[in-house]
Amino acid sequence: MKPQSLPILFVGHGSPMNAIEDNPFSRTWARLGQALPRPETILCISAHWQTRGTQITAMEKPRTIYDFSGFPPELYQQKYPAPGSVELARRVQAMLGAERAGLDNQWGLDHGTWSVLLRMYPQADIPVVQLSLDVNIAEGGHYELAKRLRPLRDEGVLVMGSGNMVHNLGLLNWAGEPFDWALQADAQLKTMIEQRDHPALISFPTSSREARLAVPTNEHYLPALYILALQDADESLTFFNEAVSLGSLAMRGFVSAS
Ligand code: ZN
Repeated sequence: MKPQSLPILFVGHGSPMNAIEDNPFSRTWARLGQALPRPETILCISAHWQTRGTQITAMEKPRTIYDFSGFPPELYQQKYPAPGSVELARRVQAMLGAERAGLDNQWGLDHGTWSVLLRMYPQADIPVVQLSLDVNIAEGGHYELAKRLRPLRDEGVLVMGSGNMVHNLGLLNWAGEPFDWALQADAQLKTMIEQRDHPALISFPTSSREARLAVPTNEHYLPALYILALQDADESLTFFNEAVSLGSLAMRGFVSAS
């Protein structure tokens, strides 16, 4: 019998404060942690880890990384002490090829990963491995690389991406009103995801002047491509947190499930 494939998940993480604020975004993450089938391990592709070549965290006890500045002390007191999984790290390396993917013992869990998992799985009892974004490859290359990870869905691994498909920190609006171009880009992306138009999603960041406003750099966009690459035909697709936060951050996430 074919094993049950686990769902795949993309989360728009937004401000690190979502880790400790009780708000609609973080409440949805908590609900997701309850609703999704419990995974044996988690592989997270975070916007906040870019390297030359692909890296995979392979330590037994990944540290909590505070890769942000200027936030209240309470945020720096949070810890996410989930174990790592050397076994999963080696498995991912074997799938991607040892010539291009290395095992890392320096990184840990950055806030792209822990700010979300703190809400989803507050017990921190599911082992977590992070996969980095190789700065030397373009959108299509990331998508093709991600396809190699498909067997993980049948091996008890929850593969999740954490970024923001629309993300322009240079144009934040602290008053909160979303910019029109951000709303438009978010709506366009939603349609492309619904239509499973992956080629359009791969080329979106460089497709127009407006798209460049929405995706000025691609590190927060790429984690979504990793998740889309793992989608099977005819899967159910559910969006959540469909809002643009702080003017220019799309919080949209999605779950695709067989
Ligand atoms: Zn971020």
